Amino acid sequence: MTRTRSKSPLWEPGPIPLPGGLLDWRDPRHYDRRQDHPCTLCGTPTPLRSHTGEPAHKSCAEAWIAANPAEARTGRFASDSNTGRSRRDDHA
Ligand SMILES: [Zn+2]
Repeated sequence: MTRTRSKSPLWEPGPIPLPGGLLDWRDPRHYDRRQDHPCTLCGTPTPLRSHTGEPAHKSCAEAWIAANPAEARTGRFASDSNTGRSRRDDHA
């Protein structure tokens, strides 16, 4: 049986971090307090979800982006869009 995984995001994702960068998952929608599901990357239960509802730890998703930079560009994991925040930051 073929399982087609819907890749349509549950809400609008933001930018995809560069390999080695950090995800910005501050939106509470990343946190499913109802149920833990096994992380698709490490298998340990997690309440965290990607924008497409895929269960994954934030740190695992960041490591996956670093390990799969080409596939990461397809937007499997993305940061939240910071509409209310200045875009030109990260100058420390
Ligand atoms: Zn994990």
